[in-house]
Amino acid sequence: MKDVFFVERDPYAPIRHQYPVSRVLHEEKSEYQEILVLESPHFGKLLILDGVVQLDERYEFMYHEFIAHVPLYAHPDPQEVLIIGGGDGGTLREVLKHESVKRAVLVDIDRRVIEVSKEFFPTLSSGFDDPRATVINEDGYKYIQECEGEFDVVIVDSTDPVGFAHVLTTEDFFRFVNRALKEEGIFTAQTESLHYHLEMVVRIQKTLKKVFPVVDLYTSVVPIYAGYWWTYSIASKKHPVREPSREVKVSTKIYSEQMHRYAFLPEDLYGRILEGKFSF
Ligand code: SAM
Repeated sequence: MKDVFFVERDPYAPIRHQYPVSRVLHEEKSEYQEILVLESPHFGKLLILDGVVQLDERYEFMYHEFIAHVPLYAHPDPQEVLIIGGGDGGTLREVLKHESVKRAVLVDIDRRVIEVSKEFFPTLSSGFDDPRATVINEDGYKYIQECEGEFDVVIVDSTDPVGFAHVLTTEDFFRFVNRALKEEGIFTAQTESLHYHLEMVVRIQKTLKKVFPVVDLYTSVVPIYAGYWWTYSIASKKHPVREPSREVKVSTKIYSEQMHRYAFLPEDLYGRILEGKFSF
């Protein structure tokens, strides 16, 4: 296949990424979404859901290390972790690097994403075989309503907030997350691009502030996501989040104590963004 390109169909982005493709490895329509696995010369394998690239083998660590280690290191002793979405397994792999973690529950609505990841992305899905991991195929919004004071950290690693992922950004959902967390609990969610989706970022931040006493915003660069400068909203019941609370011991490619601090926007810029005094 020479000069064949995949053009991304991201409903939110004002640009369209185009990837050179060397092979189509898998294509199906699951009960919930279209699942596509392609091989690309520069990026390695790509996982694509409903036309939107979720991850590539080359740069995935730039997302998974930040979504997992910032909340887990902000927490003094994370033992029970809930991941909503994340069916590729990348976030689970990072969470399980923490020796303190005794149980990690991953709730992805679509079991086929997990099965496809096990088949095509062994470096991401390795955590599914860990005895500390439990996988549940259910809507995260429904699952969390059954939980009370159970988790130290809750992470939402979902698809873009459209369709069945939309409920994961509502005030109702954040209230259920708050109830599901223990007294020292911390919550993180991927919240799209800082510049292309600024209004959504601000809406989610303001909604979180209605529910949690500590709310903040951090970012990392993710080369395959539209806009590259990706945001994560973090909320905490008690602990500050801008500093790691312990020495960083897990093995990572990019996350470190310094990167934890650099990931947060300066207070002044963050404040101006929330007050609507900054726009791109
Ligand atoms: N890192 C990726 C990104 O931001 O593009 C997300 C990757 S992960 C594969 C996203 C997963 O979220 C999908 O497997 C999808 O099935 C799952 N998901 C979306 N909405 C969900 C919901 N309401 N409950 C549980 N899982 C959900």
